Amino acid sequence: MSAIRIDGKAFAARLREQVGERALDFTKGSGRKAGLAVVLVGEDPASQVYVRSKGKATVAANMASFEHKLPDTTTQAELEALVDQLNNDPTVDGILVQLPLPDHLDEQAVVDRISPSKDVDGLTPVSTGRLALGLNGLVPCTPLGSLMLLKDQLGDLSGLNAVVIGRSILVGKPMAQLLLDANATVTIAHSRTKDLPDVVRRADIVVAAVGRAEMVKAEWLKPGATVIDVGINRLPPEPGADKGRLVGDVAYEEASEVAGAITPVPGGVGPMTIAVLLRNTLVAAYRNEGLEMTELTL
Ligand code: NDP
Repeated sequence: MSAIRIDGKAFAARLREQVGERALDFTKGSGRKAGLAVVLVGEDPASQVYVRSKGKATVAANMASFEHKLPDTTTQAELEALVDQLNNDPTVDGILVQLPLPDHLDEQAVVDRISPSKDVDGLTPVSTGRLALGLNGLVPCTPLGSLMLLKDQLGDLSGLNAVVIGRSILVGKPMAQLLLDANATVTIAHSRTKDLPDVVRRADIVVAAVGRAEMVKAEWLKPGATVIDVGINRLPPEPGADKGRLVGDVAYEEASEVAGAITPVPGGVGPMTIAVLLRNTLVAAYRNEGLEMTELTL
C-alpha cells in the first residue's frame, strides 16, 4: 500500500490566498490594514529566516508587517516595554515574539505580557485557558494547522483514536485539546510513556511532535492510519554536502507503506504554521475592531 501524501504546501497556499482576500475586505470595513508585529531578539540564524519569511507572507496577504529587531544585549525591562507599546498600538493586531529568546531573558514573563487579544501564537495563559475551556480564543498555529489537514483528509474525527507524541505547550498539549474538541479519543505520549510502539499501534491518527529524526517506524503504525509529522530535524550532512537533509519524526518512506495518509517533511505541517499565523492575525484584527468575520471555507 502506498499512503496518500498530504500536501500541506498546497493547502497552506489556498489558506493564504483566502486570508489575503479577506484582509482586503477587512481594510474596506475598517479603513486600515490588519497588522502583525514580530519581535526578534538576537542573531539566531534560524530565527532570522523565520522572521523574514513571516514578514514577507504578511505583506503578501495584504496585511501590514512590523518587524522589531533587538540586539542580544536587550534587557527584560526593554523587551517588556516594547511588548507594552505594541499592546497599546491600535495598528497592531497580532504580536509574535520569536522564540527561543536568549538565555538571560525570561520567556514566560514576556509571553504573559502579550495582550490575549493580540496573542496570535496562542501561548498566553488566557489563550491556553480558553482553549482548555472550549471557548473562542487564539489557538497555537502548528496544532491548528495540523487539525485543518486532518479534517481535510478525514472529515469527521468523532470516535477516532488519536495518539499525540509530545506534550509541549507549543504543539503537543494544544494538539491533544483540539483533537478532544473534535471528539477524538486522545492519548498523549511523551518521553516516559511505556511501550510507545504499542500505544501508537492503536491510533487511527498519529501526530508526532517530538524532535527526533525518523523515530516513528512503519511497524509502529496501524495499517491505514493518518500520520501528521510535525517534527523538523536536520540529519548530519552526507559526505561532500554542506547541509544534511531535513526529515520529520516519522520514517517517511517505510511509514508510507503502512499509513493511509501522511504529511511529508518538508512540505507538510511546516507551511501550515505561517498560513495559520496569518489567519490568526486576521481573526484578531476583526475582533479588535468589533467586526464580524465570516468563517474561512477551508
Ligand atoms: P519540545 O522539545 O518542546 O517537546 C518534545 C516532546 O517530545 C516532549 O513532550 C518530550 O517528552 C517528547 N519526547 C522526547 N523524546 C521522546 C521519546 N523518545 N519518546 C516519546 N516522546 C518523546 O518540542 P516541540 O513540541 O516544540 O517541537 C517538536 C518538534 O516539532 C520539533 O522537531 C520542532 O522542530 C517541530 N516543530 C515544527 C513546527 C512546524 O512548523 N512544523 C513548529 C513547532 C515545532 P517530555 O515532555 O517527557 O520531555
